[in-house]
Amino acid sequence: MTHKIAILPGDGIGPEIVAEAVRVLRALELPLELETAAVGGAAFEASGHPLPEATLALAKAADAVLFGAVGDWKYDKLERALRPEQAILGLRKQLGLFANLRPAICYEQLTHASSLKPELVAGLDILIIRELTGDIYFGQPRGRRTAVDGHFPGAEEAFDTMRYSRPEIERIAHVAFQAARKRRGRLTSVDKANVLETFQLWKDVVGEVHAQYPDVQLDHMYVDNAAMQLVKAPKAFDVVVTGNMFGDILSDEAAMLTGSIGMLPSASLDEHNKGLYEPSHGSAPDIAGKGLANPLATILSVAMMLRYTLQQAEAAGRVERAVQSVLAAGLRTADIWSAGTRKVGTREIGDAVVAAITGKTIAKTS
Ligand code: NAD
Repeated sequence: MTHKIAILPGDGIGPEIVAEAVRVLRALELPLELETAAVGGAAFEASGHPLPEATLALAKAADAVLFGAVGDWKYDKLERALRPEQAILGLRKQLGLFANLRPAICYEQLTHASSLKPELVAGLDILIIRELTGDIYFGQPRGRRTAVDGHFPGAEEAFDTMRYSRPEIERIAHVAFQAARKRRGRLTSVDKANVLETFQLWKDVVGEVHAQYPDVQLDHMYVDNAAMQLVKAPKAFDVVVTGNMFGDILSDEAAMLTGSIGMLPSASLDEHNKGLYEPSHGSAPDIAGKGLANPLATILSVAMMLRYTLQQAEAAGRVERAVQSVLAAGLRTADIWSAGTRKVGTREIGDAVVAAITGKTIAKTS
């Protein structure tokens, strides 16, 4: 069966890093049909909108979307609806992408880049799953008003509403249990059930869904403790699942454990495991067009696409092992370079990953 992949390179370094990821995808020789469309600032320049109808239609028709990055400071003065970043929000909404998966992997060769001690992060491989469409970020009502009660009646106040429904929690819990099954079989559900009604329901529902996954070990942890444990003993985690706000914060904390933003892939999935795959970083306008960008986060996003949407775990493993062998051979883009390794550009590191996939050897660098 041929899968259709929408390729949306975007702005800044987007086209450069996506080009390398596409070469890696082609090197696997799988039955895939790739179609490219403009998104973000590039689409605004071409057709006056960051997410043109044709791009949205392609993304909807595809089995998966490979997304580069969008944005540039030159668009900061545009009205909000026309800014490049609206394309990503529009795609999440229109495609119903409610589950955000962000692995934090610390490759042995890059432990020095972490702000934690090498022994705490060497070999780190955890996955943070954040619910993306609910919680206090979207709950209604919200706004500003004059307080009628509380500590200061009559004063201006602002309020937001934290809410989750049972089906919203059930569907993210299923994604998390299934991901844990594909990994080391352990899931930590992060909540604040000791204080918040919303997260007491969260904890109850995750516990109920667990009955369908008896092979996965589940623990519950309060978010304040999870934030501590992530810097104290991050390797104790396998998969972490949590709500939108806690996930926003914890996934950035976990990303920083690895120290290198150019290495971090991500996936956003819908109810049928259709996904949008993108690096966790932005469009890096400061280095765009210079051939300096690290394409490995985008290449590792391709590995996630193979694993989560295309159900090609073997091919995903080939891509991940190829990336590891390139690092082991001492090749580095500037963002992850250290003394004793060889600094190379975007294209050269892409060449090396393709060579590793197609079975060619990479010369070791001292
Ligand atoms: P950024 O992630 O683009 O860059 C932060 C720093 O990291 C820069 O110094 C950049 O050079 C470096 N960097 C990022 N990716 C790199 C890579 N692959 N290789 C080497 N170095 C890399 O964040 P920013 O500078 O805050 O934002 C720039 C633009 O990107 C803004 O317009 C912002 O809105 C947009 N943005 C887009 C997304 C997205 O498309 N999903 C996400 C975040 C930011």
